[in-house]
Formats: sequence, C-alpha cells, structure tokens
Amino acid sequence: SLSRLSSLRLFRQQCHVGGTWVDAEDGSTIEVDNPASGEVFGRIPSLTAAQVEAAIDTAQSAFIDWRARTAQQRADMLLRWHDLVLANREDIAILMTLEQGKPLAEAQGEVDYAASFLRWFAEEARRVYGETIPGAKPGQQIVVLRQPVGVTSAITPWNFPAAMITRKAGAALAAGCSMIVKPAEATPYTALALAVLAEEAGLPPGVFNVITGEAKLIGQVLTASPVVRKLSFTGSTAVGRQLMAQCAEHIQKVSLELGGNAPFIVFEDADLDRAVEGAMASKFRNTGQTCVCANRFLVQRSVHEAFVDKLAAAMAKLRLGNGFEPGVTQAPLINQAAVRKVQQHYRDALDKGARHVSGAVPDGGQGNFVEPVLITEVNPSMQLCHEETFGPLAAVMPFDTEQQAIELANATPYGLAAYFYSRDVHRCWRVAEALEAGIVGVNEGAISNPAAPFGGVKASGLGREGSRHGLEEYTELKYLCMGAG
Ligand code: ADP
Repeated sequence: SLSRLSSLRLFRQQCHVGGTWVDAEDGSTIEVDNPASGEVFGRIPSLTAAQVEAAIDTAQSAFIDWRARTAQQRADMLLRWHDLVLANREDIAILMTLEQGKPLAEAQGEVDYAASFLRWFAEEARRVYGETIPGAKPGQQIVVLRQPVGVTSAITPWNFPAAMITRKAGAALAAGCSMIVKPAEATPYTALALAVLAEEAGLPPGVFNVITGEAKLIGQVLTASPVVRKLSFTGSTAVGRQLMAQCAEHIQKVSLELGGNAPFIVFEDADLDRAVEGAMASKFRNTGQTCVCANRFLVQRSVHEAFVDKLAAAMAKLRLGNGFEPGVTQAPLINQAAVRKVQQHYRDALDKGARHVSGAVPDGGQGNFVEPVLITEVNPSMQLCHEETFGPLAAVMPFDTEQQAIELANATPYGLAAYFYSRDVHRCWRVAEALEAGIVGVNEGAISNPAAPFGGVKASGLGREGSRHGLEEYTELKYLCMGAG
C-alpha cells in the first residue's frame, strides 16, 4: 500500500492556510504511522503559535468576503466540493485506510457519508430563514436575522477522519462562516486531501483551512483568540471539558460531541434476528471505534441465551485483518492504548464475575489487532459500564423488567446514543421517552444520517450536528426593532 502513496495526487504533507500550502516556520514535524504495521509513512508540520494566529487572521479576512456572497454562491461551491469528494472517493479511501486502519469498504462508505454532509448543507444554505414578529406598538415590527457567527474552529478525532470534518465545515460554510480545522494527529492526510478538493472546488482562500501540530498548543491559541467565535469539538469528554473551560475566556460558542456509553436493550418481544443485525451494525462498525457503538447489551432474561447464541454466531463471521485485504470486516485498532483499554475492560469484567462466551481472549499479542470477543453476566460494578470501551468487546448484561432496563441504561454520566428492540408499540413510546440520550435507535442499529440532528445530552455534549439544527449552530440571531419612524 505504501508504494501507492507517491501516485496519490491528494497526499499532501503541508498545512493549508489562506489558500497556500505551508510548512512549520521552525521546520518541526510530527510522524504519522499506519496502525496495521506501525510503520511511519509520513510527516506533517507542527505549526508554531504565531502561525496559528496568522491562520486566524487569514480566516477573518476570508470571512468578510464569504459572508457577503449570496447563499446560492456558497451552495454552488459546496456542491462542487461534494462532487469532487465523490469523484476522488477511491484515493481518499486509500489515504484513510492507510492512516486510520479501517477496512477499505468502510473507508469508501465514510467518503460517501462525508460527502452527504456537504450536499445536505449546500441544500440548506438557501434556507437560513429569519422571522418577523408583530411589534409592541402601532407601526412597529420585530425582524429577526440569522447571521454567521464569524471565524470558527473545529478540532476533530481520528475515528471518522473525513465525516467529522464535513459535518462541521459543511454547516459552517453554508452559514457564511470561515473555518480552521485541526484534525487528529493520527489522521491528518484525509483532512488535507479534503483541503486540496476544497481549493479545486473554488472555495475562496482562507474559508477552509487545515492546520496540524501540537493539539494542546493549537487548542490554546484557537480558544484564546477573541476573533474565533466558535469551537466545534468532537473527541473525549476530558478534552472537551478542558476546551469548554478555555472557551469561557471570551464566551466563545462551543459545540461538543463527546464520549458515550450506549446501551442496547433487547426486550423479550423483540425480533431477535433483527436485533442481532442491529447489534452487529452498532457494535462492530469501525471495529467498535465509534462514539455511538453499543457498549452495553441489556438483554431480558427470557431471551438472553437465544440472543447470546445468535450474536456469537454472527460474530464468528467477522474477519480480522489488514483493512486493504478484501473481505476484512475488522481492522486494527488505532494504537496500543486502544488495545490496552479493551484488554483492561475484559479483564476487569472477568475478575468481577463476567463469563467469556466466544472469541479470543484479548491478550495484546497481535500488535493493534484485537479479535472480537463476547462476554455476558456483566454487572454495573464493571469498568465497561462507566467508560467507553471503543473496541470489539461485546458485553451482555441480563435484566428482568422494563423498569430495570431503563434504570440500567440511564445509569451513566453519558447520553449520546441508545438503542432498543421491541415489537410492542406502547413499550416503544415509553422506553424512547425515558432513555436519557440525544439519539435513540428504535428497532434500528445504524442511526447516522445528515438529515438528522446528531448529538448528546449529559456528559456526551452540547449542540447538534447535521439537520437544519446543525446549521443553526453556526448562526447568531439579531433582532431589529423597527420603529414606526
Ligand atoms: P481520543 O481519545 O479519541 O483521541 P481526544 O479527545 O484525545 O480523543 O482527541 C480528539 C481531538 O482533540 C484530536 O484532534 C486531538 O488532537 C485533540 N486534542 C487532544 N488534546 C487536546 C487539547 N488539550 N487541546 C486541544 N485539542 C486536543
């Protein structure tokens, strides 16, 4: 796969700022490796604080121009970007599998998903409506405008290197904002490839910038600037909390999409085959490394054995290997820390009474590769009930009553996604309303869609991405009180 790199037009090892490609002014770089082999295959610039400040100034000049364009012009450019992303689907997917590890078919799927946000927000750009309200006095009118918030920044994670960027940038640019993106250190090349295509789509210089370097330093500069009016972050709750505190300085707006600990409830009246299908989609997408992955399967006792047997059978069909090999469904985890976390959650659960059902014991003996593993008799004292595992460990917890399932499901500081399967319509309404989550899959395991508002409650975050609500996050309301004169 490395031999293919030199022929990849989209492979860039410089940052994209103000329409130019730049190195760090002090020449420093960060290595990027392939999680399947550990081999370093590229270096990205580690920008200085002064360079990040300069990027903010560039984004501010670009914003003045961009906001003045018509919504139709912005929409047209976003659509061109969308078309170019799809036209370069294969190359982007190769870069993504190389740096992130995911199976090539999943990488291609992510490119489609990423492009879908550009299309969605291009379509929404022309519908940034305000409103009028009857005034308080004769002849008076209240007019409400929606205006772009200004320069925005995005700090994004490695698990969806393309989609987590377009979900933010599509909304920001449609609203008339400019954006500076700091991708995860592990997956900068997908982001830089998007920048190449943004440039080719005709986006004015400085509207979409990608900067790389030391995360903490860049985060500090972006949040210390009074010019940057919003930060959109996707990543861990610990870092999100830190960034939110930093944003308090200038009352910078903040959207946070943080960790989860998704419950997946199977009631005794569920269609078990459909439930297993949904469980596989939710648990094993991206080898368990999504923030909406089922972390706890809560299964009603009367169907527990049947469900576990069916899940084990479905898991036996998964194939672990290098993401470039055809037929592989489970790829290496992102790094050794991710491997250790799965091992730790597995060991902790077994020490506290869980039972191993199927799959290889995660012993860390295969680099970043971890076999899917199924355990049951999980209980709330276990670590995996409090932290996201982010790996291919399927953990089942039996329960007796609906009330108990709801209490167990909600017994977490997180509230991003939750799932449940039932064929009783009354139960579906009751449970859907009772779950403390921003997203509930009701007889559905795959919930991502650009038309829907994605986001969490409690410690899982603030704000929504995708849908018209995702665009509103990049606008400010301005109320004009129009007197009779
Ligand atoms: P994960 O555990 O999934 O790697 P992180 O929250 O550490 O999640 O990373 C998500 C994004 O946040 C990445 O782009 C990372 O570089 C960035 N990041 C990590 N620490 C900080 C920080 N202190 N300030 C700003 N950004 C950070």
